[in-house]
Amino acid sequence: MSLTYADVLARYEPTFGLETHVELNTVSKMFCGCSAEFGGEPNTHTCPVCLGLPGALPVVNGTAVESTIKIGLALNCTIVPWCRFARKNYFYPDMPKNFQTSQYDEPLCVEGYLDVDVQGKTYRVGIERVHMEEDTGKNTHVGGATGRIHGADYSLVDYNRAGIPLIEIVTKPVPGADELAPEVARAYVGALRDILRTLGVSDVRMEQGSLRCDVNTSLAPRGSGELGTRTETKNVNSLRSVERAVRSEMIRQAELLDKGERIYQETRHFNETTGDTRPGRSKEEATDYRYFPEPDLVPVAASAEWVESIRQTLPELPAARRARVSEQFGVSAEDMQQMTNAGVVDVVIATVDAGAPIDEARNWWTGYLAQTANAKDMFAADLLITPAQVARVIALVAEGVLSAALARQAIDGVLATGDDVDAVVAAKGLQVVSDTGALEAAADEAIAANPDIAEKVRSGKVAAVGVLVGAVMKATRGQADAATVKDILLQRLS
Ligand SMILES: [Zn+2]
Repeated sequence: MSLTYADVLARYEPTFGLETHVELNTVSKMFCGCSAEFGGEPNTHTCPVCLGLPGALPVVNGTAVESTIKIGLALNCTIVPWCRFARKNYFYPDMPKNFQTSQYDEPLCVEGYLDVDVQGKTYRVGIERVHMEEDTGKNTHVGGATGRIHGADYSLVDYNRAGIPLIEIVTKPVPGADELAPEVARAYVGALRDILRTLGVSDVRMEQGSLRCDVNTSLAPRGSGELGTRTETKNVNSLRSVERAVRSEMIRQAELLDKGERIYQETRHFNETTGDTRPGRSKEEATDYRYFPEPDLVPVAASAEWVESIRQTLPELPAARRARVSEQFGVSAEDMQQMTNAGVVDVVIATVDAGAPIDEARNWWTGYLAQTANAKDMFAADLLITPAQVARVIALVAEGVLSAALARQAIDGVLATGDDVDAVVAAKGLQVVSDTGALEAAADEAIAANPDIAEKVRSGKVAAVGVLVGAVMKATRGQADAATVKDILLQRLS
């Protein structure tokens, strides 16, 4: 029988940590001039350097270093004055050099932190390091049932991704979150994603793999003050999965510890369908990789002046912006968090700037527009409707020209055609029917068609009028104001 989450917490204290890989959105690759664009015909974004041909010499991409420094500064890290790349040696067919150029004991950014808020409490997640490396190519295993190498007939390799700048952000172990450990882990990745998006250094698409997480989880007997043996769940590709991966590992490890078994330090794979993890390989030690300083690259020495000039260019970061907007517009912390989670803070502010009240702007962007975007698998802020158009819809509702239902139709029309709100309203005839004569005629028709209901209302069962209101709304295709219709009906039946 499997343990409940409460059972786990009664006896054990969880600690988690995260290693997050971020593909930068630089124009060219980390060590050569090849295009770093996603996709492309296989093996067209390649050259002797990223194919690892003999004698080819790498050169560091300056923009990638600058982006890494931005990330380090945003995460309150120290930017070291001097650091080097290192070779991480291992064989894999998607890595033609047989080593990955990475950073080992000399990362560019160290000792930072990121504060995340969960359920009204702030948790400080320590950042151990931010380092630069390069992505590998992509293997495709053809034939076989699982798409994995086992059972495949043959494998293809595409080196377009090989050498794309990759940043790894490693947290320190985070103890003390207790039952909220899964939520805090998720909130950290969400906050990190917002920062990276605000910095403009990556498109942070978890579903496309430009942001991916390895989740470390361990348990220690409650009150022991120790750190348990951790497992590492690889390539977790959504915020929800981060939370589920921590939770399922906590339960799995507690079951083993309860039986007196030990936890092995190993990598595990997260199953999106079942929500649990299964074993991968046993974890290599750093010594297995035979790291040594990369002899083909000069060290990176970021001067204090350069770092300072980069700091001056940093945009307002999400936490500071939340505090300012919350103060300026009187938005509660909860509503602010909801806007942040939906990624709509900027568009809400722009909608307010275009003349809409903050509450309406927030409601539309976190409500109907977020749902619409979600159904299309995109961000609300990327929808083909501008903040000014949303402000116009809100104004038309305030003027009584559109009902809420008609406003949604107007938004659908704008999204479908790209036309302006007023053009959509005119073309679809979406105005609320405010012609009293027309509404009275529709009310009389509804009464005539439903004599039993009308009689009930006349005899005092006022609630029954809802049926008649519905009939009128149907007859006017939702373009009447329901409250006005109700008044007219009750007047005629009194
Ligand atoms: Zn290249």
